[in-house]
Amino acid sequence: MRPSTRSGHSTRSGRRPRASRRSRRVEWERGTAKRPSDRELIEAAKRARLKAYAPYSKFRVGAAVLTADGQVFTGANVENVSYPVSLCAERVAIHQAVAAGHRDLRTVAVVADGKEPAMPCGACRQVMAEFGVRKVIVATPNGRTRVRSLRQLLAEPFLPERLLGKAKGGRRS
Ligand SMILES: [Zn+2]
Repeated sequence: MRPSTRSGHSTRSGRRPRASRRSRRVEWERGTAKRPSDRELIEAAKRARLKAYAPYSKFRVGAAVLTADGQVFTGANVENVSYPVSLCAERVAIHQAVAAGHRDLRTVAVVADGKEPAMPCGACRQVMAEFGVRKVIVATPNGRTRVRSLRQLLAEPFLPERLLGKAKGGRRS
């Protein structure tokens, strides 16, 4: 898979084994093809992790976000010598999706260095809540995996409806 911000489009559906990645993407956009599986999201996050810029912590993280319409966006952590400026892989991936016009997200897969899966930080959980993420998959490069609902990770999020009053969905505009 070539490195890109939009990846993870390999599929095991087998229905059309010779279909190109582009044509499968079109199928997903039309809602006629199988969506990427959790395993495929993890693999996309794993590949994204290799692009991490983590010269200070040496802690590489990759993330893959599944949108409501079945597209996948990836990101890696990007550190900075001014440490607080650094960004987590989850937020890089989510912001890639949002910048491409996707505001309704479903699943985030995260693959981080270490022997145990690393849970997303609080800031990333809040950003996931903003865009409707429901499921969070965390894994190690060696395949240890845990699955959580965002509700488990962030029981009472601060949501746009609270700020915008009855203007539900105002964030979508
Ligand atoms: Zn984070």
